Amino acid sequence: MSDSDAPSGKPQSYTRKTLSESDEKPQTPEIYKCCNNPQITYLAPVNINIDERTIGSVDVWRCASCMKAFCEEKTLGIDSISDIVGMPRIEDDEKWAVIVSKLQKGKDKWKLVKLKQNGMIKFETSDEKLIDLKIEDYKIVDDFHSSFLALDHIHTAVEI
Ligand SMILES: [Zn+2]
Repeated sequence: MSDSDAPSGKPQSYTRKTLSESDEKPQTPEIYKCCNNPQITYLAPVNINIDERTIGSVDVWRCASCMKAFCEEKTLGIDSISDIVGMPRIEDDEKWAVIVSKLQKGKDKWKLVKLKQNGMIKFETSDEKLIDLKIEDYKIVDDFHSSFLALDHIHTAVEI
């Protein structure tokens, strides 16, 4: 037993310190303002299969107000840390898509991306090389890569 363990004497200063530290505003989740009245709720997954085995999925969220969709990539075994907070942004002229690489295997075979209708997209391969892929009408046109739109496959499994 020691006198120094006793809280007598300074409880008030502790209280004050705690209060001043909590002066920082409570963290309000940053909801992506897709419209004036965002109501983003979970819609459905798109499962990614290899040989009929699910190796990952794309979670699809949707705003009930403006119907804009948000997608999130999930690899099997890795828990998603984000929910509404940090909802990935997408521009009005982009669509959520999955790029499938014929050169890779397993979880490296696919990647969630945002495609514009036409043009090029920089795609990072699993060995961290940046390559240019051609987009035609929201689809990758390439000998070694293909793509599909996530929203075309809600509630289904896509064999890659
Ligand atoms: Zn919205």
